[in-house]
Amino acid sequence: MAVLLGLAFLCGGCATGQAPEKAAWPDFWQPHLLYLQRAPCDWLYVEIDAVEGAEPKDATVEALRGMLQRWCDKPGGVRVVRDDLLPRDEARGLALTVLDLRLMDGPPKEAEGAAYLHILFYDHRLLPEPVLGGKAYGHVLALPYPATVYIDRGNLKTSWLGLANCFEKWLLFHEVGHALGLVRNPDHLHSDGTHCRHASCIMYGHGGVATFLARAFTLQWFTSDEKEFCCQCRQDLAAMRDGPPDEKLSFVGPVLVRAEGQYHVLALPNDVTVYFGPLDTVSWSEVLDDARRHATEAAPSSGVYGGLAMSERFGGVDELAAAIEGAKADPDPFVRWLAGELGEKLIAAAKENMPPAPPVESPPRPSGHEVRDASRAGGDEKGDGP
Ligand SMILES: [Zn+2]
Ligand SMILES: [Zn+2]
Repeated sequence: MAVLLGLAFLCGGCATGQAPEKAAWPDFWQPHLLYLQRAPCDWLYVEIDAVEGAEPKDATVEALRGMLQRWCDKPGGVRVVRDDLLPRDEARGLALTVLDLRLMDGPPKEAEGAAYLHILFYDHRLLPEPVLGGKAYGHVLALPYPATVYIDRGNLKTSWLGLANCFEKWLLFHEVGHALGLVRNPDHLHSDGTHCRHASCIMYGHGGVATFLARAFTLQWFTSDEKEFCCQCRQDLAAMRDGPPDEKLSFVGPVLVRAEGQYHVLALPNDVTVYFGPLDTVSWSEVLDDARRHATEAAPSSGVYGGLAMSERFGGVDELAAAIEGAKADPDPFVRWLAGELGEKLIAAAKENMPPAPPVESPPRPSGHEVRDASRAGGDEKGDGP
């Protein structure tokens, strides 16, 4: 049986040249609202994983909990959990996506339906290739999966003779601020288009540790966590929290789901599955296992893995073809590319594997007239997609 999703079969491929960039945030979805608003996720589960030697200080974790409690409307609570600590020898040579997926456990059973945020503290010195073309102190990817915050604590520890290490908390707040939807308001956008133009704000367009240091000494950041964001960023957070929701989005475990009527887009780090079928047939642990396998098998720089999958509980081949046509008009160019590239392949697989339609009375065929049945009955257990 297909491994990817219970009751599903899959065809997939890896897109090259589709790697997400740290760029302006796409406006076709508002995933940050899942963190800020009380519905559909009435609580927030934050999983912190780290490579040994790059783990955050306890005070940083506590400060983060306080910051999230201040800004996220979660009547069920904000749970911040320190999870895995991967020995350096095991981490050495693993690509960042592999680390991310390997350490990601997702929320526990009792936390199903929580908004999920993954925070990964890594050390670039152990990676096989540079991050974002060089050394990044921290980053969040706008696509395909904006729910992991990456912090290069190795870089903090080695910059400025180790002084940069003091700024762990502010760096984390800055990157989590991106995950919470800051800064998108054109009223106070920095000229780089992705940061705040107020120098007193932690979302300021920073040029590196030098800026952090200069501002720390001149603006007394250390005095109060509540002053982490400038007045306008605080207003933005409140407005987003109280504004209209993005009703298409939800989490299934750690998988970020966008519902588009005839299909669902399932996102994990560097992994996208366009799923044709009801959401309750998705086993997120299987989706996660498959993403781990894709990331491990792929060369580190090979971009985002994409696949199409279909549940046996999805209608017939005609419905599938219509849904694929819908996906070809998806707002995300990567999903459009996938549907165009792999749609025919999935339809062919569906024709082979779909159980015959419920019996309908057919008129007797004239004898001697050869009729070819285009939709052969399935029955052979299909293995993993190619
Ligand atoms: Zn930033
Ligand atoms: Zn600001």
